[in-house]
Amino acid sequence: MRKVSLDDKYNLMDGQVYITGTQALVRAAVEQHLQDEAAGLKTACFISGYRGSPMHNLDKELWAAEQFLPSADIRFLPAVNEDLAATAIWGTQQVGIFGDAKYDGVYSLWYGKGPGIDRSIDAIRHAHSAGAAQHGGVLCVVGDDHPLSSTDSPAAHETLFADMRMPVLYPANVQEVVDYALYGWAMSRFTGSWVGYKLIPDTVDTTASILGNPQRLSIVTPNDVDIPAGGLGLRFPDTWKEYEERIERYKIPAAIGFGRANEINRVTHRCDKPRYGIVATGKAWTDVSQALRELGIDRAKASDLGITVLKIGMPYPADEEQFRSFADGLEEIFVVEEKHQLAEGQLKSALYGLPDGRRPKIIGRTDENGQHILPVFPEYSPDDVTRALAQRVAHFYSSDQSKARIAFLEARSKANEARKPLSVARLPYFCSGCPHNTSTRVPDGSRAIGGVGCHYMATYMDRNNMTHCHMGGEGLNWVGQEPFVETDHIFQNMGDGTYYHSGLLAIRACVAAESNITFKVLFNDAVAMTGGQPLDGPLTPQAIALQVYAEGVKKVVLVSDEPEKYSPHRGLPPGTQIEHRRALDRVQKELRAIRGVTVMIYDQTCAAEKRRRRKPGKMIDPPRRVLINDLVCEGCGDCNAKSNCLSVTPLDTTFGRKRQIDQSACNKDFSCVEGFCPSFVTILGGRPK
Ligand code: SF4
Ligand code: SF4
Repeated sequence: MRKVSLDDKYNLMDGQVYITGTQALVRAAVEQHLQDEAAGLKTACFISGYRGSPMHNLDKELWAAEQFLPSADIRFLPAVNEDLAATAIWGTQQVGIFGDAKYDGVYSLWYGKGPGIDRSIDAIRHAHSAGAAQHGGVLCVVGDDHPLSSTDSPAAHETLFADMRMPVLYPANVQEVVDYALYGWAMSRFTGSWVGYKLIPDTVDTTASILGNPQRLSIVTPNDVDIPAGGLGLRFPDTWKEYEERIERYKIPAAIGFGRANEINRVTHRCDKPRYGIVATGKAWTDVSQALRELGIDRAKASDLGITVLKIGMPYPADEEQFRSFADGLEEIFVVEEKHQLAEGQLKSALYGLPDGRRPKIIGRTDENGQHILPVFPEYSPDDVTRALAQRVAHFYSSDQSKARIAFLEARSKANEARKPLSVARLPYFCSGCPHNTSTRVPDGSRAIGGVGCHYMATYMDRNNMTHCHMGGEGLNWVGQEPFVETDHIFQNMGDGTYYHSGLLAIRACVAAESNITFKVLFNDAVAMTGGQPLDGPLTPQAIALQVYAEGVKKVVLVSDEPEKYSPHRGLPPGTQIEHRRALDRVQKELRAIRGVTVMIYDQTCAAEKRRRRKPGKMIDPPRRVLINDLVCEGCGDCNAKSNCLSVTPLDTTFGRKRQIDQSACNKDFSCVEGFCPSFVTILGGRPK
């Protein structure tokens, strides 16, 4: 049996490689280096961006792969935020213009979640307009979350790339995550453009066995594309006015030419006498493939029936010639794509000028009667595609298998619809011992605004935390409301990750607006929501205190579960108050009474992070445990109210419902003992049996 190693994912260059979609991006960077080396190019790679679902793991994978990065000259810089990362990537394409380059080129990868690219468009549009270097190349990787399963705004960015006139690739599976990255860098070099690159949870948060041999791809450079004098790559000096013309006149046709030469859009189901066409973009192609299989239509059957499928790997720009040739002789084309009508619109535009009789009916978002064919919100499922396709081809195909499958899917769908909603909703909740259990409380009569981070979950709870804003806009909703409402003051939650990303600017904006607001900067010493990454640079509660003081805030209070760590005379601005978290209510009342911008820094380490650090001995695990003596407990629930902790659980006894501590889930923040309850027993040095 072949020896297998966890390192195979990056150094096995033959056979099958078992790899996740995120690791596939790292592997692509390694493979690109090998390709460049083989071509006699001395290149380096630069990866930068900011985490966020579904791109929450790329930084962790790069750190885990650190032994492979130097030999492939890959530099990884976790950025302070996405738009600053984009400008750094722009810089990598300028390496060759001053005559001091150490490399022939730097190929780069920017990454971000949906809201991350949204905030960065200024930087990305500028950098893309300036272009990519001849031996560099840029992939602009966005993690789109179509059904909003882990983001708060629907993310599907093909149309945004199209708006920037940036070619975009959309891999359908993990193999294509690697292959399209390699195509993408090659396309970027050839066209002098940044290349958009769309990932979704189905491709990045998944694992597959892929082909490892780098020779599996033979990337073709087209020779039938017009190249202007001076080439398409980033040049210097250059003028802004020329960017647009170069993009429209040369770069877009070059991208189409590159896509065609490399069959990035390709007909996967061919037939001699096609009558029914399906156009499917990215992952939608796998849905269509599944639908055909479920209906009993293999490739031979599809050919007999006249069903042909065009797989779109490059949603923009469209190859209109390819569309016209694909459409020739078809009665109808069914466009399957998620969220947008980009392919459908481009297809209609390409075919509109065809003479009557040669222009097939096009359906996609809606059918010929304007009815939705596939659900749009939150997303359609492969089952939906199967049912829709069966209906569209029913006039020339059905079989026992397809009828049985549709009957099964209909029955399942009806059963799902008939299912009564649960009487209880299971909302996400803070981990046991999470600092936000305490820190997000507000005093009576006050309200807080949520933000991006685990603390957002406070808005689900009965504690007057309401509404939210985008990352880095904290406090500004209030600036807009303040002059027009009776309320005089607001609290605004802000995680330390957000503070470092862009939040400090929001505090500055509130100072500039002379707003009456108290920021609660929740320092939990990790970017908790995306898996506990370290902050992206040096940040301490003291540094935050000094920074906000310098911005002109009226008062800074540092609240901690370990206030003894701090001294007002060491590294804190004048007048900084240090308080135990027990004083939270009083502190907040004092701060809301001070007119202007005030800041409370709440310092307590993320409970999940504590657990991660304690296990390998990176943090002291306090030799202390809390138990509840159920014979003393009266079941009043005050410990639940004090701690808001999931590890304080009900215990049904013959004397009624009492409370107990779930010892395996308890993260030992000891906020449950704050209630002065006589049933609590603290054990020092003991271990659960
Ligand atoms: S000590 Fe109490 S509040 Fe803290 S995690 Fe354990 S049960 Fe929860
Ligand atoms: S991961 Fe950390 S910050 Fe997030 S809910 Fe859990 S304990 Fe709280």
